[in-house]
Amino acid sequence: GARIDIENVSHWFDVPGGNKLQALDGIDLHMAPGEFVALLGPSGCGKSTLLRLVAGLEPATTGRLAQDGRPIARPDPSRIVVFQDPTLYPWRRVRANVALGLQARGVLRAQAGRVDDALARVGLADFADAFPHQLSGGMAQRVALARALVNDPRLLILDEPLGKLDSLTRLQMQSELLGLWQRSGFSALLVTHDVEEALFLAQRVVVLSDRPARIVAELPVDLPYP
Ligand code: ADP
Ligand code: ADP
Repeated sequence: GARIDIENVSHWFDVPGGNKLQALDGIDLHMAPGEFVALLGPSGCGKSTLLRLVAGLEPATTGRLAQDGRPIARPDPSRIVVFQDPTLYPWRRVRANVALGLQARGVLRAQAGRVDDALARVGLADFADAFPHQLSGGMAQRVALARALVNDPRLLILDEPLGKLDSLTRLQMQSELLGLWQRSGFSALLVTHDVEEALFLAQRVVVLSDRPARIVAELPVDLPYP
């Protein structure tokens, strides 16, 4: 997994009326290679903003973000975000939706095995030919996970990926996500509103203040993994 260094990052948005809205205030967060970190914090405090900066989707106003010592300046297939809504193309089969995650689109035939492997890793080997409308919400989110995993990312960025699932599916997928992380070695940065989910999945829980987000607590989670 990737080492992630977030150093003294603050972020402001331009808002109507020529004003600035501060979303992040001096965030310092360092992730060891392969570490699983969960972020907790009140709604609107700046969690998604921080994930977007780590993903390279926008530049931080001030401060530095680096992956394995190199500045994060743009999106990169080594860092993949999984959002709350799986955003699948409804007219394309599951296999094609996963193939859309492939970094090198030119060699699809050669990479077909990777697509099937990613589907197998999320337990959907038998659904490669299905269309999204034939899937439950949990299965659709597994497809989104497979689309993220198909490039073997070094950092998986998870923005409340299980937030809209019913509680039984959520529990099931928490175990699956833990297993994937244990077997795959990627680093993971998870935003969740579910304290139990954070404690179950993460090795470290970071708590953010109300906006602008500051780190107000960091707790190592020392639970025996199943
Ligand atoms: P969280 O994920 O913790 O709920 P967000 O990071 O989505 O919070 O948002 C933090 C704050 O920044 C909120 O007040 C939100 O309205 C504001 N915000 C987020 N994105 C933008 C944007 N593109 N332009 C202006 N304000 C934004
Ligand atoms: P549809 O879902 O419209 O029926 P297909 O599943 O036949 O489409 O394929 C859509 C796209 O996905 C095509 O560009 C095809 O080359 C690609 N594709 C199909 N199967 C695989 C696979 N196993 N690995 C990688 N790419 C694939």
